[in-house]
Amino acid sequence: MRNQENYIGHSSRAEKYDVVIVGGGMVGATLAAALGQATTYRIAVLEREALPAGVPDALSVPSTFDTRSIALSRSTVRFLYQMGWWTQLRKCATAIRQLWVETLSLPGCVQMCAEQVDLPALGYVVPNVLLGQYLIQTVRQCGRVTVYDQAVLHNLQPKKGGFVAQAVCAGESVSLVAPLWVVADGVNSQTLNALGIESRTHSYAQNAVITTVRAPKLRGDGAYEFFQIGGGSLAFLPLSHGRHGLVWALPAVRAEAVLSLSDEDCLEALTATLGQHRAPLEDLGQRSYYPLQLSLAREQIRPHCVVLGNAAHSLHPIAGQGFNLAVRDVMTLVNLLKVRPERLSCFTLLQRYEELRLQDQNRIVRFCQGLLDVFSWREISVVGLRQLAMLLFDCSPQAQAWLAKTVIAPTVLETAWELGV
Ligand SMILES: Cc1cc2nc3c(=O)[nH]c(=O)nc-3n(C[C@H](O)[C@H](O)[C@H](O)COP(=O)(O)OP(=O)(O)OC[C@H]3O[C@@H](n4cnc5c(N)ncnc54)[C@H](O)[C@@H]3O)c2cc1C
Repeated sequence: MRNQENYIGHSSRAEKYDVVIVGGGMVGATLAAALGQATTYRIAVLEREALPAGVPDALSVPSTFDTRSIALSRSTVRFLYQMGWWTQLRKCATAIRQLWVETLSLPGCVQMCAEQVDLPALGYVVPNVLLGQYLIQTVRQCGRVTVYDQAVLHNLQPKKGGFVAQAVCAGESVSLVAPLWVVADGVNSQTLNALGIESRTHSYAQNAVITTVRAPKLRGDGAYEFFQIGGGSLAFLPLSHGRHGLVWALPAVRAEAVLSLSDEDCLEALTATLGQHRAPLEDLGQRSYYPLQLSLAREQIRPHCVVLGNAAHSLHPIAGQGFNLAVRDVMTLVNLLKVRPERLSCFTLLQRYEELRLQDQNRIVRFCQGLLDVFSWREISVVGLRQLAMLLFDCSPQAQAWLAKTVIAPTVLETAWELGV
């Protein structure tokens, strides 16, 4: 439903905005909140599902979470800080001070500490639901942003100087017109379909089972990535109250079996996978799963249109990079529009956006794909080489500094001079 403050009276009228964002998920909400704060544009967010209506008094942390948690890189945290949001979000964030990567049942591991790379933390973990709630709250508080939730978009058509579409929201139809449309409606985007933009997809034939668990033998500030020989992985992200968020990527059929186990049997299966020396694992949270696929839109920009988030690039969560990458896309777009607000409808500005973003996007896609490939090797000789490479990485400050710069804390250009516009 539309929020009361920004109520639009007549359904037959065309509503003109500067920017329409299709999709009010993590990325659409981040963009709406950032643009709402950094520019004077009139913005509409169109979301298929119901969005939280109320403004929570404070961000409280429940003792168990039934949904996934998200690892935020330093560049994402820097952005949240610059927007003035981090002070509040920090209250529900857990710092990652150590990273541990291991192939289960094989010698050799990579261990990386924040101090080794001169950082106070390698990243932070935030429950998705709280971050999402905070972003929507920020959007709702911004007078220039109108939220249409439980809304369906029809008939998206190019129009001179932009696009026009019908939004059906709470039984009423409204015509939305804007010079810039942002497609942020996630993987398998209907809006991309409507625009005739195809995506290259590759199914990993894996599902990610998501839950939380108490694992007393794991450090409370440690993020762990355990690879299984021949494919599959378990990622543990530190949360408050001595818990870890777990992302267990495994073949689709096995994932379904894991979901149907009792808590006790599931903990047993986890312990058998991780090894007895990491037991006990206890107090399992609610389980859910996500099918995993790589999906890359063949076009990210068109005149008056830009594609962001999972609609543009949906990655395997192996390295926790999808949202972080999308935030750097959002930051770049916001910075461009902030320094050149008058060029909102110029295709050259969107071309510049794409030029600035492609290298980072390609690098992260290659990095995630490379990790998956390397850890799915089965042949003993190449597995030995990989384990040796892990040992070398573990001893190499240069390699760790490279990882910190590329994945943990990449920078985003900000000024007009840096952006080249
Ligand atoms: C298991 C797992 C763990 C992850 N962990 C991390 C991590 O640790 N760090 C990290 O950086 N990334 C992580 N990611 C990736 C991250 O979750 C995604 O990058 C992020 O959620 C993408 O947000 P989005 O807004 O693009 O898509 P979504 O979150 O899918 O949002 C899309 C929104 O669009 C709406 N929508 C869909 N169709 C329409 C329509 N036709 N009209 C209007 N609205 C529509 C949907 O309802 C939804 O609200 C993880 C992903 C998975 C699966």
